Amino acid sequence: MDAEASRSRSLSAHFQSALTACHRACSQAAKLALDIALPTLCVSCREPVDGEGVCADCWARLSFIAPPYCPRLGIPFVYDPGPDMLSMEAIANPPAYARARAAVRYDDVARTLMHALKYQDRTDLAPAMGRWMARAGSEPLDNADVLVPVPLHWRRAWRRRYNQSGALARVVERQTGVKLVPDALKRIRPTQQQIGLSRPQRASNVQGAFKVAAAGQALIAGRRVVLIDDVLTSGATVDACARALLRAKAAQVDVLVFARVVDSLKTPI
Ligand SMILES: [Zn+2]
Repeated sequence: MDAEASRSRSLSAHFQSALTACHRACSQAAKLALDIALPTLCVSCREPVDGEGVCADCWARLSFIAPPYCPRLGIPFVYDPGPDMLSMEAIANPPAYARARAAVRYDDVARTLMHALKYQDRTDLAPAMGRWMARAGSEPLDNADVLVPVPLHWRRAWRRRYNQSGALARVVERQTGVKLVPDALKRIRPTQQQIGLSRPQRASNVQGAFKVAAAGQALIAGRRVVLIDDVLTSGATVDACARALLRAKAAQVDVLVFARVVDSLKTPI
C-alpha cells in the first residue's frame, strides 16, 4: 500500500514538473512570438524603435536644460551673466527650497513621456527619465543625504497603483547611492489637481497639505534633502513640501524634477 502511494506520489511529481516545463516553454514561445509580432514603439510618435523609450528623432526634440540658468530656480537664461546671478523670479519670490533642477523643459515630448509613466503604467520609461534627472541634479545630489519623493494622497495612489515620483526617485537612488526615504513625507489632506488653477490658487490648494510623518522625523532632521517630483509648474507643490521638511528640521531642501515649465528664456538681473 505504502509502495503504491509512493509510486503515485512520484508519478504526480513527474507530471507536475513536466507540466511546469511545458508551461515555461509555451510562455517563452508566446513571448518570442509577441516580440516578433510587436516591435517596440517610440512612446512619443509610435514609430518602431530599437530598445525602449523614445526614437532618435523624439530624443533630439527633447529640450534638455543646461547652463546658463538661474542657480536658485534652474530657469534657463538667454545669456550667461557669470556665476551667482539670480533670476528676477528668485529675487521677487524666493522659494522655501534652496535650488531646483530639471532634466528637460515641459514640452510635447516630455508631456507624452510623463503621461505614459503616470497613467499608462509605462514603468519601463522610469530608468531613462531618472538617469537624465540624476545628471541634471548632480550639483544638489553631490552632497545630499536623502531623497524624498512628493507623495500622492493614498486615495489617488490606490487608483493609480503607484507613485511616479517614487519610481523616478528609486532610479536616482540607484544612480547616485543617495538613500531614498519613500514614506517620510505624507499628504495629510487630498488636494485638487493643480491643472487649471491660477498661481495663488495653486499655492493655497497645497498649503498645509504635507507633513513629515512621526516615523520620518529622525530621518529628516539635520539632513540635506533632495525632493523628487515629476513636473514643476508654478512650484507651489514642491514649495509646500519643502516647508514641511524644513519644519521637521531638514538642514536644506533642494528640488529635482523630470520636467519644468519654462514660459520663455529669462534675462538675469
Ligand atoms: Zn519618436
